[in-house]
Amino acid sequence: MPRITTPEAEALLDQELTVLDHGFVRLVDYMGGDSSIVQAARVSYGPGTKTVREDRNLINYLMRHRHTTPFEMVELKFHVKLPIFVARQWIRHRTANVNEQSLRYSVMPDEFYVPAPESINFQSRSNRQGRSPEAVPEDVRARVLEILKGATEASYPQYQELLEAGIARELARISLPVSAYTEWYWKIDLYNLFHFLSLRCDPHAQYEIRQYAEAVGRCTQAVAPFAYAAFVEYQLEAASLSKHERLIVAKLIHGTPAAWSDFAYFGEPVEFGEDGVSKILQSRRRELADKIGVSIPVESEALAT
Ligand SMILES: Cc1cc2nc3c(=O)[nH]c(=O)nc-3n(C[C@H](O)[C@H](O)[C@H](O)COP(=O)(O)OP(=O)(O)OC[C@H]3O[C@@H](n4cnc5c(N)ncnc54)[C@H](O)[C@@H]3O)c2cc1C
Repeated sequence: MPRITTPEAEALLDQELTVLDHGFVRLVDYMGGDSSIVQAARVSYGPGTKTVREDRNLINYLMRHRHTTPFEMVELKFHVKLPIFVARQWIRHRTANVNEQSLRYSVMPDEFYVPAPESINFQSRSNRQGRSPEAVPEDVRARVLEILKGATEASYPQYQELLEAGIARELARISLPVSAYTEWYWKIDLYNLFHFLSLRCDPHAQYEIRQYAEAVGRCTQAVAPFAYAAFVEYQLEAASLSKHERLIVAKLIHGTPAAWSDFAYFGEPVEFGEDGVSKILQSRRRELADKIGVSIPVESEALAT
């Protein structure tokens, strides 16, 4: 049987998709595509599955019903150049094969990530790990860039000085900041790649790793377009509701207004402020609205207790 390819993936092979200021994602190779998922699934269902005629329908069915192993039949291999602080988040995904550039062996080039001015934000007040959408004044941004560039401009000559003094590369490298770029080969199957994308394309993921995840997603879509579309529909842009959230949504669909008490999921004591609003229940309500993708009008903040 001929190798499974798509024209879109073939066109992307070996192209460096630029990410951030010096980084890239490059699709090095891939094995399989939508039809390998279908092939594997038909083995497990046997000839009786002729009712599931269309490949796309079968892939959607597998994704909806979390029949995951057929997606593992597809593999993608990437060459990625990324800042060390992004690599630290990325490497937490343990279900891939990785081979990283060794700075015990080679010399680090003079390339460091410096955020674009529009990516400089204040700390978010609502999300302890995130950035605020509030605009940062021009002079503050300029100072941030001065500090970040200053740190890299100071560290690289010192790194070179250590190398020139004959100090071991494995020691000299510890003078460099985590904005320095590293490179690796990263190979993963489609099932685990979707898991990576669902976590790292999410708006809660850090902006910088999201840029990489989007480039990886572009390659993935080229390799297995039906599977990628099913992933977007049933995972990436889907929402998983808790038992109580589901009951609240059912109530609203039936036209019964929700009350604060609906959000007290586990029966723990909940305090209401003088304005009749409970901070914890308000935050749960926002979380549910966020999952469903609706915003709560300010005038409806207060609910019946
Ligand atoms: C927004 C965000 C914030 C985060 N914040 C932090 C943080 O503050 N601190 C921090 O340390 N990490 C943080 N992480 C990393 C996070 O906890 C996970 O380590 C990372 O997302 C990888 O997820 P994973 O383990 O599901 O993926 P993978 O390692 O790819 O694993 C995939 C799945 O395989 C299974 N699996 C793999 N290896 C094992 C194993 N050894 N034992 C059991 N099951 C296994 C699990 O089911 C797992 O879900 C954050 C991640 C995100 C997306």
